[in-house]
Amino acid sequence: KASRMFHPEDTIINVNGIKIGGKEKIVVIGGPCSVEGKDMICHLAQEVKNSGGVMLRGGAYKPRTSPYAFQGMGTEGILAMVEARKKTGLPIVTELMSADKLDEFIEYVDVIQIGARNMQNFDLLKAVGKTNKPVLLKRGLANTIEEWIMSAEYIMSEGNENVMLCERGIRTFEPYTRNTLDLSVVPIIKKKTHLPIIIDPSHATGDWELVESASLAAIAAGADGLIIEVHDCPECAWSDGAQSLKPQRFAEVIRKGKKIAEVI
Ligand code: PEP
Ligand code: MN
Repeated sequence: KASRMFHPEDTIINVNGIKIGGKEKIVVIGGPCSVEGKDMICHLAQEVKNSGGVMLRGGAYKPRTSPYAFQGMGTEGILAMVEARKKTGLPIVTELMSADKLDEFIEYVDVIQIGARNMQNFDLLKAVGKTNKPVLLKRGLANTIEEWIMSAEYIMSEGNENVMLCERGIRTFEPYTRNTLDLSVVPIIKKKTHLPIIIDPSHATGDWELVESASLAAIAAGADGLIIEVHDCPECAWSDGAQSLKPQRFAEVIRKGKKIAEVI
């Protein structure tokens, strides 16, 4: 179902009127790694919007390496994002970690993110496949492109064809970056599938100083969108501060991106 061979036209996904994929403009999604409170997310949503971002990201259920690290605000975080959408109109993107929470996501969320660690959680993929919500499917930490496309098939074969793929870097031998950004996926995914491809330069690099160049390279490579972590005070962030951009730097990435291609 994802194959370009049987579906030559690009899939364009519509999220509350915002179109992603095909020859549409590049979509930039911004927001914190974790939702840290209602005021925080409402304020950041406004900053993302003022900077030119068109969707809000924010994690309420966090897949942390350590069980002792902050695990996310859960339902309270989802409701805080709903409040931020009400105030700004920005659609919300957030990660679903367990099918138990699917009803909550169907009710409140605009785009369901499947995180890298769950790329091959086949029951979770089948569960989101039974909904009609747009899904942002991240590439696994060490998964091949073929495995990633097969995970998209798990969702699509259940009936939900609103899938966008998200490259967030893969594990290699290189420790200077958190992951290695594999930009070759952009032309490969475009050739093999008809699905939109979004790049996450934040998790791919793990370092805010590298986010701008990774973002601009992704735009030049032909990506359909970017998902970037943004925080007012990166050094105080509850997760992923080291890779988060301050709003004014986020705005700068969008400004520079517009010189390369059309960004919404
Ligand atoms: C995230 O988006 O904050 C996240 C945990 O991403 P990934 O699944 O790519 O690590
Ligand atoms: Mn993060």
